[in-house]
Amino acid sequence: MNIELLFSKRIKSKDESIRTKMLNIAKDLEDVIALGRGDPDLDTAPHIIESASQALKNGATHYTHPQGIEELRVNICEHLHKFHKLNYEKEEIVVTAGGQCAIFTSILALIDKDDEVIIPSPGYGSYDQAVEMAGGKIVKLKLNEENDFAITAEDLEKVITNKTKIFCLINPSNPTGAITPPDEIEKIANLLKNKNIIVISDEIYSRLPFDNQKIISFASLENMKEKTITINGFSKAYSMTGWRIGYIASDKKLIKILAEIHHGLNICAPAVSQHAAIAALTGPQNNVSEALKIYQKRKDIMCDTLDKLSLSYGKPGGGFYVYANVSSCGMSATNFCIELLKSEKLMIFPGILFGDYVDNYLRISLLQPENKIIEACNRLENFVNQIKKT
Ligand code: PLP
Repeated sequence: MNIELLFSKRIKSKDESIRTKMLNIAKDLEDVIALGRGDPDLDTAPHIIESASQALKNGATHYTHPQGIEELRVNICEHLHKFHKLNYEKEEIVVTAGGQCAIFTSILALIDKDDEVIIPSPGYGSYDQAVEMAGGKIVKLKLNEENDFAITAEDLEKVITNKTKIFCLINPSNPTGAITPPDEIEKIANLLKNKNIIVISDEIYSRLPFDNQKIISFASLENMKEKTITINGFSKAYSMTGWRIGYIASDKKLIKILAEIHHGLNICAPAVSQHAAIAALTGPQNNVSEALKIYQKRKDIMCDTLDKLSLSYGKPGGGFYVYANVSSCGMSATNFCIELLKSEKLMIFPGILFGDYVDNYLRISLLQPENKIIEACNRLENFVNQIKKT
């Protein structure tokens, strides 16, 4: 029996093979430093864990309201208002099992065969996967290093057609850390105001801007709420990846269908994690600011090393990634990553895993303690100096 013949046409394994190949190499090596995944090394704050544990003892072991516990949805609305100047009501929130589930819910709710979805390239690969699953067409919005991978309204306008249904705005970006400048956000709103296009505004890194940079939530602009699906979550800001908790905020008309699809996919987000999320939003916020300081310091250490090695990169505006250009090293970024892993035991993923249209970049995630980041920088330096010598 050839089981592969039975796989649906939706299954595309091209990107997986590089990640899998690297993970297979890594498993036979000792002392690998992994700067690959976007999973914070910092722990969830103790008061969040305590609160979740108490909730379990009190019986939080059942389904909740499909859109999420009412108290949590109220807290989310308050949070969105306080930090992002957004005005949502509790009926306009669907609590999801992570931002990931929010992405798939949104795409499945809106995309039919051949509908076009504009996705930044590089961008977060799950958008591509969700669009492929829905049978839609990915339209790449090609970004470049010269302007630090920022999205501009001018570039966006060039790729809009009469089949465009969604534009995915990931702000700040994974994998580049770029923040879409406030004046560009305004221009994008202006460009889209009379068009029948939905914006998915993925703001999962929005609590982590470096140097107090301003991040504008798309739906906070005049008349944009009705055409925006705001996606956010707890994984990145509160170091809660394993809890699988995030949310969608959207205008009343849209949220109805999103809630239906989400119910079909998940019934509801995990009850215990919803209680943890309440504690995250209502408790002290200093863990978020402390985490930001830590990421900023690691980012500076990494960028200093890249400067020393004359490797260019897009200036990261927030989050915890650096997107570095290795085209001067005489090999593709994919080969660079494989050789770096084999010879220096440093695991970093190439940008093509993030939908990049060129194989020149590495996405370095900064999610290891500072001493490991320093050691990773030494290993990177050794490797680059070696290949530049040969
Ligand atoms: N959106 C972006 C841009 C991400 O980078 C990620 C994860 O890396 C997610 C959404 C999904 O995160 P989670 O499902 O853990 O909330």
